[in-house]
Amino acid sequence: MESYLQKKLSKKYRKQDNVTITIIDKNAYHTMLTELHEVAADRAPEESIRIDLDKVFYGRKINVILDEINDIDFDNKQLTGLKSVYQYDYLVLGTGSKPTFFGCKGAEENALTLWSYEDALKIKYRILEAFEKASVAKTPKEREHFLTFVVIGCGFTGIEMIGELAEWKEELCFNFNIPEEEVKMYVVDLLPKVLPYFDEKLIVKTEKRLTKLGVEILTGSNIIEVQENAVIIENKDPIHTYTTIWTAGVESSGILMHTEDSSIQKGPRNRVQTDAYLRSVSHDNVFVVGDNIHYIPENHEKPVPQMVENAELSARLVVKKHYCNH
Ligand SMILES: Cc1cc2nc3c(=O)[nH]c(=O)nc-3n(C[C@H](O)[C@H](O)[C@H](O)COP(=O)(O)OP(=O)(O)OC[C@H]3O[C@@H](n4cnc5c(N)ncnc54)[C@H](O)[C@@H]3O)c2cc1C
Repeated sequence: MESYLQKKLSKKYRKQDNVTITIIDKNAYHTMLTELHEVAADRAPEESIRIDLDKVFYGRKINVILDEINDIDFDNKQLTGLKSVYQYDYLVLGTGSKPTFFGCKGAEENALTLWSYEDALKIKYRILEAFEKASVAKTPKEREHFLTFVVIGCGFTGIEMIGELAEWKEELCFNFNIPEEEVKMYVVDLLPKVLPYFDEKLIVKTEKRLTKLGVEILTGSNIIEVQENAVIIENKDPIHTYTTIWTAGVESSGILMHTEDSSIQKGPRNRVQTDAYLRSVSHDNVFVVGDNIHYIPENHEKPVPQMVENAELSARLVVKKHYCNH
């Protein structure tokens, strides 16, 4: 969401030589995260979900820097990256989220995640590899192991991922000469229902559709451990699998976890505590956009959800607030 913000700011300050606008990103491209599952299941071309930052900001008064920031000194207004150190007067933090594993044993080491372009590619090639290995497996047990897929997390990302895989199954089975009934797909969650934030009608519809596509829905299932070749669920038989995909939760990106400066006030899951104008409550020259925000609106119990619409709205609000101050 930085792109909207940087463009607006550059328009406002284009004639002021004393104002410099810089965007720093660890990737040279913006990733359309909402379409990751389409790449992971080979429905969309790999490059279709990446947009070059140089192209986005072409012809604008914006420095685009490729660097990964690994520390922020909020009091001295300084960012430290892998390549250089950067000073700022105003900082807009919009580093997004990363998967969190809630301490589930083996999950981080053994499950694939779906939160970046690279993640999507890894999943796609793991699925293809699993089918290829199954097609030459020596024993039925080995074959079953390669043809069993587990997605952990029945939220939006998990449901989209298992749905895509289920729809890709027919083509995969045809290409690798495997009977469709041999493929086993599970989607697992501790919560009692899929898509917990949606209304009952949609939940029922989703469950029906997935079941029709051959997906086994294991809600109310406590995952104790993710092993290299199995998912262990409390009071259930282990699921032996070559491919486990973890989509069960997110927290603010690594930089907000690892930054040594503890002067920035944070809420749960490393999100930055802000006021109604999305300014850090501890540093009034630091604004926050997108998934990094922790703000509970008046008369609400939960913080604003981490979703595209809020990321876009937050960028607009920060620009407006900046306009008003100058
Ligand atoms: C698979 C998936 C499906 C989703 N589906 C939906 C959906 O259908 N609807 C919906 O509303 N939301 C969905 N979301 C959530 C939505 O994508 C996010 O809420 C939104 O992208 C947040 O925007 P953001 O700008 O905060 O972060 P991001 O879009 O993640 O951007 C963060 C940027 O910061 C950069 N960065 C991170 N750390 C550093 C660092 N240390 N140094 C330099 N650069 C760094 C990253 O490279 C990235 O470019 C989905 C998310 C995923 C992963």
